[in-house]
Amino acid sequence: MAKALIIGAGGVGGVVAHKTALAHDVFDEVVLASRTKSRCDAIAAQVKELHGRTIRTAQVDADDVAQTVKLLEAERPDILINVALPYQDLTLMDACLQAGVDYLDTANYEPPDVAKFEYSWQWAYQERFQKAGRMALLGSGFDPGVTNVFCAYAQKHLLDTVEYVDIVDCNGGSHGKAFATNFNPEINIREITARGRYWEQGEWKETDPLSVSAMFDYPGVGERKSFLLYHEELESLAKNLRGLKRIRFWMTFGEAYLQHLRVLENVGMTRIDEVEFDGKKIVPIKFLRALLPDPASLAAGYTGKTSIGCLCEGVKDGKRKRFFIYNICDHAETYKEVRAQAISYTTGVPAVTGAIMMVTGKWKGHGVFNMEQLDPDPFLEDVGKRGLPWHVEERPLP
Ligand code: NDP
Repeated sequence: MAKALIIGAGGVGGVVAHKTALAHDVFDEVVLASRTKSRCDAIAAQVKELHGRTIRTAQVDADDVAQTVKLLEAERPDILINVALPYQDLTLMDACLQAGVDYLDTANYEPPDVAKFEYSWQWAYQERFQKAGRMALLGSGFDPGVTNVFCAYAQKHLLDTVEYVDIVDCNGGSHGKAFATNFNPEINIREITARGRYWEQGEWKETDPLSVSAMFDYPGVGERKSFLLYHEELESLAKNLRGLKRIRFWMTFGEAYLQHLRVLENVGMTRIDEVEFDGKKIVPIKFLRALLPDPASLAAGYTGKTSIGCLCEGVKDGKRKRFFIYNICDHAETYKEVRAQAISYTTGVPAVTGAIMMVTGKWKGHGVFNMEQLDPDPFLEDVGKRGLPWHVEERPLP
C-alpha cells in the first residue's frame, strides 16, 4: 500500500483527493497540502461525507523548497502529486530530489514573469533524477497526459508510423456564467492569448493568436469551431513519435468567450507585467484572476460534455489509415461523483492513474519522463476503469 502527498487544493486538487481516497486498493494514506489549509480542510470534509474516507491536510508554500522538504521528510510519501500551479514545478522537483520522493505533475513549468511554457527547464532535471534513482512523470493530466498516451497507443497498436496528429479539445458544456475559465484563470488566459504554434516537417510554425480555425465534429457534442493553439504536449510528442510529419492542437471557444477575451486584452487586463495603481504595484492578470469565478465553484449546475481526442493518421502494413481515439466526459456526472466539473475531473483522474502506475511499479524508471515514453496499455486500462472510458474509431482519410 502507498502513501500520496497531493499539493494544490483547487479544482484539480479536489478531484485528485477524492480519487486517491477512492483508490483504497492502492493508497492507504492520503495527505492534501496547499498554501491555504482551509481549502484542504473543506475538500477533506467533502471526501469524508461522500466516500467515508479520512484524508489528512497540511499547509505548505510550495515556492519554498526548505518548507516542502520538511513536509516530505515528516510525511515520507511514496509520491508527490503536484496539482498546484506550473510556477511551482521546479521548486517541487528540487524538494523531491532533496527528500528522495518520486514526482508527478499535470502542466509544464512556466516562469511567472514571461508568458512562455516549455519542457526545457524540467528536462534539465534528467540527470539529477537519474543519479538520485527517482522518477518524475511530467504532464499526467488529460492534455497533456491522456492525449500523449493515446498517441503512444496509436504507435503501439494502430499504425506503424504516426505521421499526422491533430489533438482536438472541446468543452461543449455550459456553466451559466458570462465569462469564466475552467481551470486556473491566470494560466488559462496566458495560454490562450499566446501566439499559436505547430510542428511540421521538423520545424515550428507560428500563427497569430486564435487566427487559424477549423470545424471538427466532436463525438457527444457535435460540430464546433476549433482554434489552433500551442499546447505543451506538442513539444514532447514531436520528439518522441516515430515518422511524425505534422502535429497540431485545436481547442473550441464560443463567440461570447472570445469577445470577453478581446475586450479584456484591449483594455490591458491580461497583462502579466506590473503596473502602478494607487501607489501600489499590481499585475493586471492576477487582479483579473481575483475577480473571476474560482474554477472549482463552476461545478454545481454545470451541464453538457467535454470531448477530447487525437486524430492520428499514418501507415499500417503499407496502407494509409486514420483513427480517432477519444473520451467524452459529462459535467453533471462528475459533479455527482466528486463535486467537480469535467475539466477538473479529466485532469485529476489521469493524475491519479499516473501516480498508480508509478507506485505499483507498472511504470518505472529513473529520470524525467513524458507520458508517451511509457507503456500505454496499463495506463489506459486503469484510466478507463477509474472514470474516463475511451474509444477508438477508424475514420475516413481526408
Ligand atoms: P486552481 O487555481 O483552482 O488551484 C491551484 C491550487 O494551487 C490552489 O489551491 C492554490 O492555493 C495552490 N497553490 C498555488 N500556489 C501555491 C504555492 N506556492 N504553494 C502551495 N499551493 C499553491 O487551479 P486548477 O486546480 O484549475 O489547476 C491545477 C493545475 O492543473 C494547474 O497547474 C493547471 O495548469 C493544471 N491543469 C492541467 C490540465 C491538463 O489536462 N494537463 C488541464 C487543466 C489544468 P490557494 O488556494 O492558496 O490559491
